[in-house]
Amino acid sequence: MSRRLETVKLTAGFKVAERLDLEPLFSTYKEILNELLDYTCKTGITSFKRLKSEKYNDMRSRYSSLPSHYIYTACQMACSIYKSFRKLRRRGLAKADKPIFKGNVVMLDDHLFSVDLESWRSSIATDSGRIGVSLCHGTYHEKFKVMRVGQAWLVKRGCNYYLKVVFSRVVEVAEPNGKAIAVDINEDNVTFGSKEKMVKRETGERAIRTAYFLKRRRLQSKLRLNEKPLMAKYRGRERRRVEAVYHELAKEVIEEAKRQGCSTIILENLKNIRRRKRSKELNGRLNRWGFRRLQAIIEYKAELAGLTVKPVSAKGTSSLCPKCRVKLSPSGHRMMRCPRCGLEEDRDKIAVINLLQKADRCALFNRSGRKPPHDTKGEEPAVTEVNAGSER
Ligand SMILES: [Zn+2]
Repeated sequence: MSRRLETVKLTAGFKVAERLDLEPLFSTYKEILNELLDYTCKTGITSFKRLKSEKYNDMRSRYSSLPSHYIYTACQMACSIYKSFRKLRRRGLAKADKPIFKGNVVMLDDHLFSVDLESWRSSIATDSGRIGVSLCHGTYHEKFKVMRVGQAWLVKRGCNYYLKVVFSRVVEVAEPNGKAIAVDINEDNVTFGSKEKMVKRETGERAIRTAYFLKRRRLQSKLRLNEKPLMAKYRGRERRRVEAVYHELAKEVIEEAKRQGCSTIILENLKNIRRRKRSKELNGRLNRWGFRRLQAIIEYKAELAGLTVKPVSAKGTSSLCPKCRVKLSPSGHRMMRCPRCGLEEDRDKIAVINLLQKADRCALFNRSGRKPPHDTKGEEPAVTEVNAGSER
């Protein structure tokens, strides 16, 4: 029996509890990084090894009080910033003629920082010695205790500092067994399951979003002064409330998949939904709606649980009959009826059935346990290393 191991990466954000003054470190780092960026632009170097071998000694002697690994990480950042700048320029999207680093981020490798999640403390090397800081944490951060620490970023926002740590964990991926559950995400409900059992959950997201939208609009019309802090407070609250709903739902989806013994979770590929022409009001609602965020949460939770996520084109999933592929007609509140075979069902459940069938047809997961064939109508191939994304 083949076993597949996969490394899942997840970034955890911690607010640093202490008031720090790391201004000297940040400005030195900015200086170094911008010099390196100039150099990469002039020479076209994109390799970390080459940049390091050409610039390290010179910079090491000029910035002798700075821990040497900062020059390493600056070389790493310079290469990746320059590479993404070059990509943008090729597509004609770069406005400036060279990339400039604004300097509110410092990259740390394992020589420059350590974290201890038992005491929630971190030690960071600076130009004036190592400093110890406390990390603000919640129950969410508990799961990182069993994970491996990778690199980190120290981020400055206003007068606060945040430590973003990349954790990784090796998970055993469940062998594809042909069983899957599909998830249909709508503005106000999420429906998921298999042909055997389906669950529909109202999210109440529309009510939350609309309430905060109205709140902000009232605020905007009443106050002339700069009310940015208050608006930001509401935005933060709205985000956290919706986020909590998403996490609960994603957890339920994963638990249902495990209960039904599924190896795969099928998500709609919603990439183009915002581009389609819609009414102004509906557009506004869709733009506030974080469907992509919910998908991302389901994805990383699935990956941590060793389940495979497959995106399937959402085209026609809620408008065609799963049996005879003809267009359904509406029949009462969220109900659809097939004019040919007379099937009458909830439109969200129909979407789930259609997603399951699509996945079957594309053979996106197969019964033999081998990797799915490439090029199944432009769907993405399986990856061995996934970045489960940032969490905050
Ligand atoms: Zn039909």
